[in-house]
Amino acid sequence: MALASASEVGDAVKAARAAADAWAGSSLSARAAAMFALRELLHRHRDDLAALVTREHGKVRADALGEVARGIECVEFACGIPHLLKGSVSHEVSTGVDVHTALEPVGVVAGITPFNFPVMVPLWMLATAVACGNAFVLKPSEKDPSPSVLLAELVGRAGIPDGVVTVVQGDAEAVDALVASPDVAAVSFVGSTPVARHVYETGTRHGKRVQALGGAKNHMVVLPDADLDAAADAAVSAAYGSSGERCMAISVVVAVGPVADRLVAAIGDRIAGIVVGPGYDESSMMGPLITREHRDRVRSYVEQAAAEGARVVVDGPAPAGDGFFAGCTLLDGIAPGMRVYDDEIFGPVLGVVRVDTDEEAVALVNANPYGNGVALFTRDGGAARRFQRQVDVGMVGINVPIPVPVAWHSFGGWKASIFGDSAMYGPEGVRFCTRPKVVTSRWPRPETSAIDLGFPTNR
Ligand code: NAD
Repeated sequence: MALASASEVGDAVKAARAAADAWAGSSLSARAAAMFALRELLHRHRDDLAALVTREHGKVRADALGEVARGIECVEFACGIPHLLKGSVSHEVSTGVDVHTALEPVGVVAGITPFNFPVMVPLWMLATAVACGNAFVLKPSEKDPSPSVLLAELVGRAGIPDGVVTVVQGDAEAVDALVASPDVAAVSFVGSTPVARHVYETGTRHGKRVQALGGAKNHMVVLPDADLDAAADAAVSAAYGSSGERCMAISVVVAVGPVADRLVAAIGDRIAGIVVGPGYDESSMMGPLITREHRDRVRSYVEQAAAEGARVVVDGPAPAGDGFFAGCTLLDGIAPGMRVYDDEIFGPVLGVVRVDTDEEAVALVNANPYGNGVALFTRDGGAARRFQRQVDVGMVGINVPIPVPVAWHSFGGWKASIFGDSAMYGPEGVRFCTRPKVVTSRWPRPETSAIDLGFPTNR
């Protein structure tokens, strides 16, 4: 695949800039209609999109269809854009004076996305940016570029004018050109923490607003009173789904008190039933990892786990032959200070930390530098309430292992999982993609006019 040079990125941004003003002036009804049309087309082509995801990313069909559905949710949210951009008004703030706040588009928004959700994450950004009246330039991951090409085609068929959405394929060179371009007003980024930090620092240095979502190490805390079977099912689904290549995957189970032995055994039993194989094979439950290099990196963590002091409970087999497969791994007795605990592995590797109390579990989660997602499994409402109040994590699931917020809330972690102050899509996304303009107006009778050098006060 050809990757864009910095000057080709410049051309894409120029095209976006040229289209931005007319699109910003388009009516809210026209923009809502475009979102409804895009939603219909995405539904009609969801199997095509999912097939492209399976072919290039490797995830199984059901998983690929799931990400398409969650992406479409964001377009559905954007169909309500006339309501979302209503702004606010105050009449008679002073005698004969009114104030209203209008939410105006920022101009050109750039979106830079990771390999692991090549449809959903671009749609998180695209739907909000475009519905708010911006032009949008997408730079998808170079590891699975094709779904973005079909997305661009569907955008055109939805009647969104040329230049309003541009897809530019590229790597770090393209990213650096986008975050430095004077014609880009805002940058939405999703990817690993080091690159998120780089994009945030470079983009803000160039005067842009930036939201940069990074990596994660998500814990699932299981209290002794939890339904053990439900907790084990959830841990297995959330750890090994998509081969662990999800920023909301569970990579650490925190077993509190006496639950640990039974929980580890229950998870281990379930792993035996997971079929690893090509994503296009209907019998596969878990596909390969994204690249050979990534598979080898994931396996290196498993190979050093025992030497670090972990107990390797399961090191599941991977199919032979082509494909960067890794089996499911379960490690018991991991702890902070071990690389298997400290690093984001982004593969089918689940570690168990044993603690004695709820308080220790919260302290462990809060000491972790990441703060994307966390889950608690319990039947105790009071314990759940305390946990959700005390935990320093942006997205919390109570008996829900992967708490990705619905489209009308917003997605964003805390701490090293995010740079910038606004989360993605939902109300936060609308705020990010617009800037408020506050208009103060009065219509006095000319005969009441007089000079007044005092600072305006309200009366
Ligand atoms: P990545 O950081 O390698 O790449 C993300 C994007 O940045 C890609 O478009 C890539 O081309 C670009 N890029 C890569 N290196 C760059 C560099 N040095 N300079 C400038 N641009 C660069 O991430 P990935 O491997 O594609 O995705 C996996 C990571 O994304 C994981 O860490 C995962 O946790 C994270 N992720 C986070 C979320 C979230 O919402 N917080 C969601 C999905 C994935």
